[in-house]
Amino acid sequence: MALLGAIADDFTGATDLASMLVGQGMRAVQLIGVPKPGDPVPQADAIIIALKSRTAPVQEAVRDSLAALAWLKNAGCQQFFFKYCSTFDSTEKGNIGPVADALVDALECGFALACPAFPVNGRSVYQGYLFVGSVLLNESGMENHPLTPMTDANLVRVLSRQTDATVGLVPYSTVAGGAMAIRGAMTALKEQGRRYAIVDAVTDADLFAIGKAAAKHALVTGGSGVAIGLPQNFRDAGLLETLEDPGSIPAVEGHRAILAGSCSRATLFQIGTAKQHLPTLELDALATPNAKALAAQAISWMEGKLGSTPVLIAASAPPEKVAALQAKLGREAAGTLIEDALAEIAEALVAQGVREMVVAGGETSGAVVKRLGVTRLRIGGEIDPGVPWTYAEGSGAAMHLALKSGNFGARDFFLKAFGMDVAG
Ligand code: ADP
Repeated sequence: MALLGAIADDFTGATDLASMLVGQGMRAVQLIGVPKPGDPVPQADAIIIALKSRTAPVQEAVRDSLAALAWLKNAGCQQFFFKYCSTFDSTEKGNIGPVADALVDALECGFALACPAFPVNGRSVYQGYLFVGSVLLNESGMENHPLTPMTDANLVRVLSRQTDATVGLVPYSTVAGGAMAIRGAMTALKEQGRRYAIVDAVTDADLFAIGKAAAKHALVTGGSGVAIGLPQNFRDAGLLETLEDPGSIPAVEGHRAILAGSCSRATLFQIGTAKQHLPTLELDALATPNAKALAAQAISWMEGKLGSTPVLIAASAPPEKVAALQAKLGREAAGTLIEDALAEIAEALVAQGVREMVVAGGETSGAVVKRLGVTRLRIGGEIDPGVPWTYAEGSGAAMHLALKSGNFGARDFFLKAFGMDVAG
């Protein structure tokens, strides 16, 4: 019987959370989109439903999140998690606030903590301000994100703009006092009528304490980091058995490829490193602003190149090029054009025998996985924090996929994913 049911606002975020839970001893399966009412419940301790709700219209995001919650409740889950990005990616209209509001209402819990901190990837929250490494969120490059530019690092303010409810803060001075102190502060905020508390966290120890403090919360919201302390609550309650390898997945044989649609800094660096070692095609959407034509270029390029050495196909571009394409087509149309092209390329790669594929970018991964007809991912071992290999089970070709959130991973991520140890 599943214990923890999670709703993630994008695909890579879901995988990141699932990977965190596997690391803490839970078997995890990620479902792509809301399953149908009668669909079988996977054998897992945690089920993570991946939505594409981060940038969807608010009503659609709320509707899908509530449908996911209802399915997870039926599957027997005892606690629920709303996963968003560790950089709190959202538009001015939401969707973090509206979705959290709907989940709090549906669970009748009246309160939820909100904590995107993920120290191992450099995300920390102090006095309600979100830092990426040593800089504030709005100076981290996220202010240039193609779909969810983040121009304010104060999360109390950001979340307040997305909800009618009031938002409090559990400051670091309290968090440092441990689980009891955090629980006390959250209870006090709830009694004052606050619906949310942004909870500061700088280290994993803080996140373990926050997880312990939230043992009895029906709903926890945040990045994957704050889920780190939740499995232990189930273990303490005698509900979670200890397994030797909660992340074991079947092996596959086939060609290898990398597809990049993220324009985040980390991905641009990763492409820069990988292209020195791998056959690489950089798509130029400005010169060819047509998804079918871009895909056709890639398909003719890949001929004779597929094998055990991975090929890299990237649409990613630096901010000025992204801005130029957006000025020409509009922000959404530019994103959709590239997502469509990469999805088509992914389909062609699989048709030509690729069975291990890395995809960079949250929205990009969503589009690729949808086109491939993948509905279930069993979570395997981690390549870099937040990015595991996964095994696509159920419909579609049995294959390994690594879905990477744009900003995640070390510079040599694409090489490391395939066990290529390249110095420098
Ligand atoms: P991340 O995980 O870094 O946020 P996403 O895939 O979620 O990456 O978002 C990146 C968005 O940018 C996608 O919609 C993608 O189609 C779009 N995109 C990719 N390359 C370009 C480009 N050259 N110009 C404009 N938009 C682009």
